[in-house]
Amino acid sequence: MDSSKKEEGRMKKEDLPEGKSSRRSFLKGLSIAAAAGSASLATGCSLKSLPATSEEFSLKWEEYFKKNYRLMTQQEKDETVARLTRLAKLHDNLDLTISAQEPREKVLFGYAFNITRCEGFMDCVEACVQENNLDRTSKTQYIRVFEMEPGKLDPSTGDGKYFHQVPVADKFYMGVQCFHCENAPCIKACPIKATWREPDGIVVVDYDWCIGCRYCMAACPYWGRRFNWGKPHVPKEEITRQQHYLGNRQRMKGAMEKCTFCIQRTRQGKLPACVEACPTGARVFGNLLDPDSEIRFVLKNKKVFRLKEELGTDPKFWYFID
Ligand code: SF4
Ligand code: SF4
Repeated sequence: MDSSKKEEGRMKKEDLPEGKSSRRSFLKGLSIAAAAGSASLATGCSLKSLPATSEEFSLKWEEYFKKNYRLMTQQEKDETVARLTRLAKLHDNLDLTISAQEPREKVLFGYAFNITRCEGFMDCVEACVQENNLDRTSKTQYIRVFEMEPGKLDPSTGDGKYFHQVPVADKFYMGVQCFHCENAPCIKACPIKATWREPDGIVVVDYDWCIGCRYCMAACPYWGRRFNWGKPHVPKEEITRQQHYLGNRQRMKGAMEKCTFCIQRTRQGKLPACVEACPTGARVFGNLLDPDSEIRFVLKNKKVFRLKEELGTDPKFWYFID
């Protein structure tokens, strides 16, 4: 694919100013704004008196031509988060903190799930939805909790839509989300390198670069990816304002998304929202390179297993029993 086609794939229709839906109308709108700017200079009006949309046009123009995040310099990353922060203020009067925080050295994240402790309450699911600004209209959830029959360890045999009082005697519960595979089939499937694995093990998506082909979703053997068929909606008062460019920032129609191990939290040394919310302590998260971490204790001392080991995906997500 030539680079101009990649550029055209990045901006989604609804991101274009004033509801215009084509590159041509975007350019036309921009030239009108530029003309308004010239006119204001000619008449001696201050640029500050121009409507906010002319600043929006210019910011969106720069956003439109930015690179794939992986190829940006740190300065370019800082510039894009500054533009997105400003656009949120201009467009929705939202005060966001969007970060481009890099992975820390000597950190490789891992997750473990205690199937003897989980009681199926789904506090994790709710916390994840809130923390990650998931679409309320489609009720998107990154985590699925399956109610399982004794002796079965394949979530596809469980009930992922139970709606009754929990826990149920003789059942157990398994949470499933993106497993952040070291050898991830989803990454190999993406034709434009819009998804990749960061040095700290987090598998991410550049939402602006994604063209929405869903090849990655089909390639994931763990039901880890979610696709935005519509523009995600979160009530303004419920938006989590601490965001990361590769994490819980505003997604758009036609973009793929998934669990990022709460990158906006974990790169700041906090736990993922699901781990913090779990009332039974069934979820363990930490640095696999730290020999004193709880995750290393679990891997060393508990009976652990991973799903579909035979595929060679090397997930960084283990199940264990006490
Ligand atoms: S669980 Fe699926 S989406 Fe997540 S890294 Fe593995 S293959 Fe990719
Ligand atoms: S849908 Fe998936 S495979 Fe397709 S461009 Fe987006 S991240 Fe890549």
